[in-house]
Amino acid sequence: MKYIGAHVSTSGGIASTPVIASEMGMTAFALFTRNPSRWKAPKISDKDAGAFRERCAELGFTPGVILPHDSFLINLGSGDASKLELSRGAFIDEMERCAQLGLTMLNFHPGAHMNLLTEDECLSRIAESVNIALDRTEGVTAVIESTAGQGSNLGFRFEHLAEIISRVEDKSRIGVCVDTCHTFAAGYDFSTPEGYEATWSEFDRTVGFSYLRGMHLNDSKKGLGSRVDRHAPIGQGELGADFFVRLMGDSRFDGIPLILETPDESLWPEEIKWLFGKAGQ
Ligand SMILES: [Zn+2]
Ligand SMILES: [Zn+2]
Repeated sequence: MKYIGAHVSTSGGIASTPVIASEMGMTAFALFTRNPSRWKAPKISDKDAGAFRERCAELGFTPGVILPHDSFLINLGSGDASKLELSRGAFIDEMERCAQLGLTMLNFHPGAHMNLLTEDECLSRIAESVNIALDRTEGVTAVIESTAGQGSNLGFRFEHLAEIISRVEDKSRIGVCVDTCHTFAAGYDFSTPEGYEATWSEFDRTVGFSYLRGMHLNDSKKGLGSRVDRHAPIGQGELGADFFVRLMGDSRFDGIPLILETPDESLWPEEIKWLFGKAGQ
């Protein structure tokens, strides 16, 4: 069974997110647990956390279909000592927030070397950051997102994801989230039937489906290998509708959150309905 939703706004308070998700016909959703563009964030009150948990339970959202996204400021592979410290602190805070909300996963962008480190040094630093965070927290899995490779961001090759996983000590609390737009923009052509099979076989060989905890479903405004991260509505980009039809008919993506981050929120209910239709649900 497919679990489909979108990245919901917390502007009405964190406890409103499951309600909005449900109203829009979602069976999965994503959210920020704090303002994604600030370093400091007020604590979530026990009252709000309790209301969030209750509503999720009432509306049928289990922790396995909710995929919180970390702040844009965090760079776990930073070559700058003070930025690295800030990032590690904020990441641990986000893991703790997830635990407080009864959630079990935190999706993060791996990190960027900013030309201060080699790719290998940066990947090793990211893994070290994850090890520290897993050590200091309980019950939450760190989920690495595949990137488009814009600027000096790593995570655009499946090998990068595999390298980070190999250096993480607790393999039970590390996973990956494949963003369809990012992976296509990074140069994996899964828009054709042959490319689709070849890309997912390569993913399985390099990373392994056992680590796949979620997906971001975005079409891509920019072309194959552009290394530019620009999302398009489903079927309106370079990936095209047929790609998403193939994905919805593929049982390897059952049981995990499939999250839209498409640019036009007013299209979400329609996009979600269309996707469910293609999944035969
Ligand atoms: Zn994404
Ligand atoms: Zn993106």
